[in-house]
This record gives sequence, C-alpha cells and structure tokens, in this order.
Amino acid sequence: MAELLKGKPIADKIKEDLKKEIEGLKSKTGSSPKLVAVQIGENASSAVYLKAQKNTAESLGIEYILNNLSENTKQDEAEKLIDTLNKDKAVSAIILQLPVPKQIDAKKLVNLISPIKDAEGMHPGNLGQVLLGNWKLAPCTASACMALIESTGINLYGKEAVIVGHSEIVGKPLSLMLLSKFATTTVCHIATGERGVLPEHVKRAEVLVVAVGKAGLIKGEWVKRGSIVIDVGINKVGDTIVGDVEFDKASQQAAYITPVPGGVGPLTTTMLMKNTVEAFKAQKVK
Ligand code: NAP
Repeated sequence: MAELLKGKPIADKIKEDLKKEIEGLKSKTGSSPKLVAVQIGENASSAVYLKAQKNTAESLGIEYILNNLSENTKQDEAEKLIDTLNKDKAVSAIILQLPVPKQIDAKKLVNLISPIKDAEGMHPGNLGQVLLGNWKLAPCTASACMALIESTGINLYGKEAVIVGHSEIVGKPLSLMLLSKFATTTVCHIATGERGVLPEHVKRAEVLVVAVGKAGLIKGEWVKRGSIVIDVGINKVGDTIVGDVEFDKASQQAAYITPVPGGVGPLTTTMLMKNTVEAFKAQKVK
C-alpha cells in the first residue's frame, strides 16, 4: 500500500525557511519582498487562489497587492500597468492571474513582465534557464512536482521518469528539471494516447507525473510496483475532486502517491512565494 505524499508538510517546511530568510533579508536591506497580482475582470474561481496567495504571502512577511482591472480593460492599458510595475523599485514580483477576458493577449503580457520580476517563472528567459539547468524562477507547478518527488529521497540518476501531459506550465518544464537530474525522461501527450501506447510508457515509469485534466485516464493496473506517482490533475466528478490517476488501484501498486486534493495543490502557492523571494534577492541583494 502506497505512502501518501501530502503537499502540506513539505509546504510548511519551505514556508518556515522562507519566513526566516525574509526576516534576515529585511534586516539586511531595510525592505521586504512585495508581490503584485494583476487580475483583469472578475472570476469566481480565481477568488479562492487570490485569497490563498494573500494569506500565504502575508503570513511570511511578503507584502501582497491585488491590482484589479475592469473586465473591459484594453490590451494597451494592461501593458501600461505591467510597464509601471516593472519600473517600480518597490515591486519585487508580478503575477498575471488567469483567465483573462478575450480581448487580452495573456502570453504577450507575461512576456512583458520583467524576467527578474516573473513570479510564475513563465517568461521565456526564465524557461530558458530551466533548459540550461540553471533556474532561479521556474514554473510553480513544475517546481512543486520536483519538491514532492525529491521529498521521497529518491536518487533520480538513471531512473525511468514518465510525464503525461506536455503543457508549458507543467509537463515541458518538469521534463527538463528531471533531465537535469539525469532521469531518463519520457513525455507523453495527446498523440501518445491516440496511438494507444500510453499504457506501455506508464507501465515502465519509476516516477510517474500526470498533468492532463481527465479523471481516470491512468488505470491503476498500469502503475509500476514501487513507483512514485504525482497526480497533478484536478477534475470535478459529482461533488468530489479527483485526479487523473485511478487512486485506489494505483495505491496498491505505488510506493508513494499524491492525494487529490492535498498533493501538488498546497505546494504551488508556496513556490510562488519562493519565486517572489528569489526575485527580491536578485534585485536587492548584491
Ligand atoms: P493543459 O494545458 O490542458 O495540458 C494538458 C496536457 O495533457 C496537454 O499536453 C495535452 O496534450 C495532454 N493530453 C490531453 N489528453 C491526453 C491523453 N488522452 N493522453 C495523454 N495526454 C493527453 O493542462 P495543464 O494546465 O497542464 O493542467 C493539467 C491538469 O493539472 C489540469 O487538471 C489542471 O487543473 C491541473 N493543475 C493543477 C495544479 C495544482 O496546483 N494542483 C496546477 C496546474 C494545473 P495536447 O496539448 O497535445 O492536447
């Protein structure tokens, strides 16, 4: 029976360390990190995330400001705000909350955020640092997956790692992070599924990360005995939230498995704070 890999204890430890680090930085520089969230329009689903961001930031000594622009904001107005925040020396890090209204080009806005203030690690410059194996600001969900995998104490050198899903926020950056640890990394995606070879890839995964958004996509019997399973998926089925992996059956096979909810989720906001502190240090500590 697999051991549950919960995100909260790992997040708590990282937050404890960050809190101490922020106190030290405050006495050294006379200022504190400041994270600015930019939200365009109202979105009920992001309200929960915003509240969690604010509470987490403030509990650590990070100043948190929410900049709420109206639903009708034009692209050039949003760009102007990003430019102002980029130039504001008191702002350490910026996050653009998704989704944005349809007249807004989110990718263009993210690319305009100064790479040194990129709280989500999604600027091409920071993604390039992930490619080079030399990252400071990396995509939060991918970093959360790495923290969970590494918490097991596994030596990734030569291990078979299989990622299902090749999104820019999870699968692609995580594949490079695992590669930097010398895991033999396979990335599966829609074409892998369509060709019917997803089971054979999953079956040899010593480390399996699934980030798709389809409940029950990964059958429990495909999961290799003794493996580490990180389920990033979030799916609403009736009144419950489940991942992409058949949890009960997979738990019979794996050595470690993340619960959904309670696995990756609690760590992503923590990684946003970690990035904010890294951004602050890059700007204020010479
Ligand atoms: P996404 O951008 O929609 O990416 C999903 C990926 O899955 C795509 O690469 C897609 O390939 C691939 N895919 C779709 N069907 C497949 C199949 N049958 N077999 C293999 N691959 C398939 O989603 P995302 O933003 O990465 O998020 C993935 C899931 O993680 C969602 O449920 C999301 O809610 C969740 N999530 C959780 C957290 C957290 O903090 N816990 C954070 C972020 C995301 P194509 O693009 O080629 O179709």
